[in-house]
Amino acid sequence: MPNWFKLAKLLRPPLALGLAFLVAGCPPPAPSRSSPTGGRVATTVTPPPPSPLALSPEPEPLPASPSWRPITGRLVVLDAGHGGNDRGASHFGVREKDVNLDLVKRLALRLENQGITVILTRRQDVFLPLPERSSIANQYPQAIFVSIHCNASTNNPAATGVETFVLSRQADNAARQARAGKRYQVTGGDQALATLLARSRERAPALAQALQNTLATRLGVPNRGVKQADLAVLRETFFCPAILVEVGFISNATTANQMASAAWRGLAAEALAEGIVDYLRKS
Ligand SMILES: [Zn+2]
Repeated sequence: MPNWFKLAKLLRPPLALGLAFLVAGCPPPAPSRSSPTGGRVATTVTPPPPSPLALSPEPEPLPASPSWRPITGRLVVLDAGHGGNDRGASHFGVREKDVNLDLVKRLALRLENQGITVILTRRQDVFLPLPERSSIANQYPQAIFVSIHCNASTNNPAATGVETFVLSRQADNAARQARAGKRYQVTGGDQALATLLARSRERAPALAQALQNTLATRLGVPNRGVKQADLAVLRETFFCPAILVEVGFISNATTANQMASAAWRGLAAEALAEGIVDYLRKS
């Protein structure tokens, strides 16, 4: 069992800062009506006098989920795929890099309005190499990492729907750990580093599922599911759950047309925000 606090203290900032948050930043558990002794209420407790506003004898409802967590101050790294000379997929006059960036900005605004702290890998139409995107995410181990892309199919113009990727199970854990160990000073031994890497991978599928489900439902398009791939941006993001969302097929004429509209991008951003908030509240 690693000593997280000690580990956090030994880390280089800002990584240390991030891990300290993992230890100290965990919000208190949701209010519970159970006593600390396991649910039994002491018989000596005197009930409060009836309130003049208490019109109903029914007790207050319990929190919807005992695992509910506040979202204020939580961290989200958003990555708008492609940019600059790298246009991504381009069909029917719609460029993926533009859709990705606009979506990410809309999503960031929605999350920030709910008290979530958002870090963007790019804010403008600039080229950003994949390793730099992961490096940014690696500075915030307590965050979640969401990369936004548009899908394209060259041989099936009718392909439609949303799909989300997590790192393939086949991705070499030992090699990832070796690279992470070289680049980041995670003192605490290989075991501590391995635990960090494993934990981020364990959490990614739930994050992917949350976004995948809300996006497909809200957009009313086929849910193509959560898939695995050995994508560089996921492989090199070591410490936080990392996913890549393909928000739709830009190679589909109808979808490309929708992507060009602010209304569609607004709806997609709303759905993505809903998925992220849903995940953060449960994790
Ligand atoms: Zn892309």
